[in-house]
Parts: sequence; structure tokens; C-alpha cells
Amino acid sequence: MDAPADPRTSWALPVPGGMPRTAELEPLVTRVLAPNPSGMTLDGTNTYVVGGPGSGQAVLVDPGPDDAAHLAAVEAALDARGARCVAVLVTHHHGDHAEAALPWGERFGAPVAAATAAVAGPRGRVLEHGERLALAGTGIDVVGTPGHTSDHLAFRLESGAVLVGDHVLGRGTSVVTHPEGDVVAYLESLRRVHDLGPSALYCGHGPELTEDPGAVLDYYLAHRAFREQQLLAALVAGAGTVDELVAAVYAEVPRQLWPAAAQSTRATLAKLHAEGRVEQGPGDAVRPA
Ligand SMILES: [Zn+2]
Repeated sequence: MDAPADPRTSWALPVPGGMPRTAELEPLVTRVLAPNPSGMTLDGTNTYVVGGPGSGQAVLVDPGPDDAAHLAAVEAALDARGARCVAVLVTHHHGDHAEAALPWGERFGAPVAAATAAVAGPRGRVLEHGERLALAGTGIDVVGTPGHTSDHLAFRLESGAVLVGDHVLGRGTSVVTHPEGDVVAYLESLRRVHDLGPSALYCGHGPELTEDPGAVLDYYLAHRAFREQQLLAALVAGAGTVDELVAAVYAEVPRQLWPAAAQSTRATLAKLHAEGRVEQGPGDAVRPA
């Protein structure tokens, strides 16, 4: 089995570090890049300002880190749209997306909405898959996308674009966390977003994907299947622990990302164990069933 080809390699995407701080992606959406780049957050966290043009209102999706420079950039983007913030939506609980939700919600007098009360806060709103929010002069569909985390949501806009958080990244592939994440749910969530026929994917990190979003989702599905085959092959070849599997399967990935790779590996082993294809324990030991 050959590694699947990433369709984005032939696209004209900005180089890492080359994304503008603020960009109007379409009339409904301005993106503001937070100053928190890293191996895991790529160029930084993308905060999206979404609202019907002329509505005078906007929703923030994933406010990101509670950082003064980022807040100033988001407020400038709101001003440029002539909009005030009427709600803060959060894709999932990780701090690089959710940290500013409650403090900024407080600052703007706007409720926070997320999949759990832990993120939405005491005066917030808990969102369910399938509901449609009428906010800021537009409609936003809530799309449950568990997998990366158990509480992950995506948001589909009237334009057909989908804000996907960490479900799909603008560069590379995402992590299925362990033990919280779930590979089977993740694959179902990829298909669910694919079935929406998105006109664009606006990712939690990295550039927007507009050229062929379906091809990226196909690649993500193929990539996970490929990793699974690689794990099974490495087990047969003699790898007997999670660390040995990571070293065998992620040899080409920078070592700083191996802890994340180990999470995806453990998540995939949990799927294979549930399918009766591997045996685990004691400890980190793993072998083919
Ligand atoms: Zn993230």
C-alpha cells in the first residue's frame, strides 16, 4: 500500500508563516490569525469573524488564546465589518481554541456556545448536532464532528463553507487524541463533512482550503487507512510497544510531533483492539491478535 497523495501539494497555498494576520475570505467571513504558532498549531490559531454583511453583528468562532494583541486584531476586524460581537462559538475545548471564550464573551456581553457546559460556561448555550443558529444576520448549522476530541463541532455557513476547527487542518493531518478521541468517530465525522459537499474548509490552523475540499477529505480518510496498515505491518515486523510503533511508522515526522503521533497511534490501536485485530498489555505491549 503506497502512501496516499496529498492533493494540496499542487495548490497555491501560502508557505508556513506566510499567512496574513487578517484576511477577508468571503463576504460572510473575516479570519484573524492568532500569534501562537507552534508545531501543533501550525501558523497559529485561526479565529473567524462571521456575520451577514450590513447586519452590524458578528459571531466569533474559536476566539483562541486570551492574548492582548490578538484581541486588538479581532476588535479591528469587527470594526472593519461595522459589527459588534453577539456570540462566541467554540469548536472544541482545547485551550488554543477556547481559552479566550469566556473572558471575551464577558467583554463583549456575548454568550458562549459549545458542545459542553464546561466550555460554554454558566450563562452559555450547549449546542447539539443538527441545530441551526440564526445569528448575526445569517444561518449557521451545527455539525457534530467528534474524533479529534469527543466534544468537537464544525459550523456550516450559508455560503457552503464549513469551519472545521481541528477536524481538518490547512496543512498536514490532524491528531486523534487519546484517550479522549476516537478513530471510528473521527472517520465518520470526515464522511459527514464530505457529505455536506463543502464549498471551502476553514480550518482551525493553516490556510483555508477552497480548491477541492472533497479531495482533502478523501485524502484524510485514505491517510488514516494507510496509517492503520502501517501499524499492522510494523507489528508483524516485530514492533512490540507504542514507542516502537511510533518510531517505525512516523520515522519521517519531526520528533517534536511524536507525542502527538503516539496519541493517534494509541487511538488507532484502540480501534484495532475493538476489532479483534491486536492484543494489548501488559503496559504498553502490543502484538497482532
Ligand atoms: Zn487546535
